Amino acid sequence: MLNAALKILKQHYGYTTFRPGQEKIITSLLGNKDTLAIMPTGAGKSLCFQIPALLLPGVTLVVSPLISLMKDQVDALNGVGIPATFINSSLTLSQVNERIYNAKCGRYKIIYIAPERLESDSFQAAIKVLTISLLAIDEAHCVSQWGHDFRPSYRAVGSFIASLPNRPIIGAFTATATTDVTQDIITLLALKNPDVYMTGFDRENLSFTVIRGENKQDFTLKYITANKEQSGIIYAATRKEVDNLYSLLYKKGYSVGKYHAGLPDKERQHYQEQFIYDNISIMVATNAFGMGIDKSNVRYVIHYNMPKNMEAYYQEAGRAGRDGEPSECMLLFGAQDPLLQRYLIEQTTFDTDRKTNELSKLQTMVDYCHTPECLRKFILSYFGETSDITECANCSNCKDDNELTDITLDAQKIFSCVMRVKERYGTTLIASVLKGSKDKKVLQLGFDSLSTYGLLKNYTLPEIRDAINRLIATDYLMLTDSEYPVVKLAPKGVAVLKNQTKVWQKVPKRTQKITADNSLFSLLRSLRKTIADREQIPPYLVFADSTLKEMSEYCPTSYDALLTIKGVGESKRKRYGDEFLEVLQQYALANNIQSSNLSIESKEAAVKVQESPSHVISLELYQKGHSLEEISQMRKLKSLTIQDHLVRCYQEGHPVNWDALIPPQYEKLILSKVAQLGAERLKILKDALPEEISYAAIKAVLCKHNR
Ligand code: ADP
Ligand code: MG
Ligand code: ZN
Repeated sequence: MLNAALKILKQHYGYTTFRPGQEKIITSLLGNKDTLAIMPTGAGKSLCFQIPALLLPGVTLVVSPLISLMKDQVDALNGVGIPATFINSSLTLSQVNERIYNAKCGRYKIIYIAPERLESDSFQAAIKVLTISLLAIDEAHCVSQWGHDFRPSYRAVGSFIASLPNRPIIGAFTATATTDVTQDIITLLALKNPDVYMTGFDRENLSFTVIRGENKQDFTLKYITANKEQSGIIYAATRKEVDNLYSLLYKKGYSVGKYHAGLPDKERQHYQEQFIYDNISIMVATNAFGMGIDKSNVRYVIHYNMPKNMEAYYQEAGRAGRDGEPSECMLLFGAQDPLLQRYLIEQTTFDTDRKTNELSKLQTMVDYCHTPECLRKFILSYFGETSDITECANCSNCKDDNELTDITLDAQKIFSCVMRVKERYGTTLIASVLKGSKDKKVLQLGFDSLSTYGLLKNYTLPEIRDAINRLIATDYLMLTDSEYPVVKLAPKGVAVLKNQTKVWQKVPKRTQKITADNSLFSLLRSLRKTIADREQIPPYLVFADSTLKEMSEYCPTSYDALLTIKGVGESKRKRYGDEFLEVLQQYALANNIQSSNLSIESKEAAVKVQESPSHVISLELYQKGHSLEEISQMRKLKSLTIQDHLVRCYQEGHPVNWDALIPPQYEKLILSKVAQLGAERLKILKDALPEEISYAAIKAVLCKHNR
């Protein structure tokens, strides 16, 4: 038998040897055993049922959810001389009947069918006259609601099998290996005492990378530019994100297509084909794309957003490098990603059990994004494989040249803070307390008086949050499954707090400033250049570099927020505000920056300005170092008015630094004249003093000395 299988492998497929697992699975099926094969994406599952199909009498039915690919799959089989066809909803009734008739006449060895067909009585009746030797169920995890791709129609398979006059051999194939799913496949597909084969889940040719705290768009552009000749998939979480990214790449001249469930069938099909035939090199898609895409030369898969769980991730990432050549899988983690996935899970109509299950899977995915340990090991142990290796040398953590550091002290500070807030709050609040933030909630709860308040004030908030997340990912801390996950101390953490063990982790270097974003800066700079050229003035007269830098750090998206940026006054805001806001808003949209992403300081400032009366706005500009003349120009108000604004602020109790207005050499002189002439009439004072002393200076001296 095996020789016959090997012969087919050579003759039809042109391969000389089987891959790991294929032989055993084929032998098992040919030996009349129900068989469950669990092999990672790209391992070569199709051959495992196609070769037996050729060796067994009669016909093999292949149940597959991939309606849009059936034609290609069947064409491919016909291309290598294997008589095959498909039956799904894309055919008319007479076409279906014709194919069934041909099948009866023995014209096919393999028929692909969509699971929905199995529910149709007429189809069932028609198919019963065929000799079905083997029923292969591809993507068998679709039967399980614990899997990531549940299809209710798969549930019909079990009763379909029961209804057949002669029970065929059943083969089930999947890349999902969790115990829940495996058990579901066996029971729901009614496998009889099956042989279960699980090949190693490791894909040695794939390198794994997690990137955090970097600008996703920059990273992606840089990567695809450096790999222009290569084929790759970019997965994004939402249709909108796919559309945005697609237009961006398209406008920049990349060879790109897109795929998501919101596009018309025709368009999707078109892009899919263009991609498969190498006419376009980049596919931007939601997770709707890719199942069953047997394109072997995908060199990279970028996850622009974190997917919902490890199964989905490994399956999608696994579409890289089916040909065994080195390929890259990169996940760009953004702080918004878990929130979005959480939201999507909460929007479902799943029952509570299932939601809890999904949320805990999501947490494992988040852990993957934060673990400082080997990513491959993390993946493999998730899929139940234990390996002795601690470092694979081919993932971003193993390749990370940061030293393993003793972070026990910082970890203890964090654990202690978790205890101080009585294990009742989430990551964000704990980070704010450790940062010593003046956040409203922190103050309201009185946490500014905790002994752990401000203990990590030298770190940025995102750095503290990352540190907490790393400790969650490595089981020192844990998150509850509740609606608002709460951080609790795990046994491993307790031991550290008691000084019984130490924590060693690779910690990212503190070089890049997380909020500073060069790409936005360069976008703003090129807008400035356009304006400068148009107005024939030097660019720095539009805005100084420091202004653009501050804009790129805080990314203000409203008129009011814009005014909090140093160097943006009312007149410039009026002149250039619209154009700059357009760039800023677009950027915020494309990068998922919401006001919650702004640093607390800038947000407070933005709110302040929105609510500030005019005289306080003047004061704020003054405090930022603008001169009275500049402020009056910016605000299109008289200099005198600005002076009055400052005085009024002072009278209302705002601290004002008057010294900037007082020429130091004259302060004493002014004071002596005030003593002499009184402070009631400014004009008298002004006349009695040298020309160059301004009203502003006199007012400043009066205020400074409480007159
Ligand atoms: P899976 O369904 O497990 O994701 P496929 O069946 O689509 O994987 O096969 C993935 C790729 O591996 C295909 O291009 C296939 O032709 C190739 N392949 C399968 N078996 C072998 C083999 N024994 N030798 C070489 N290539 C193979
Ligand atoms: Mg497959
Ligand atoms: Zn590794």
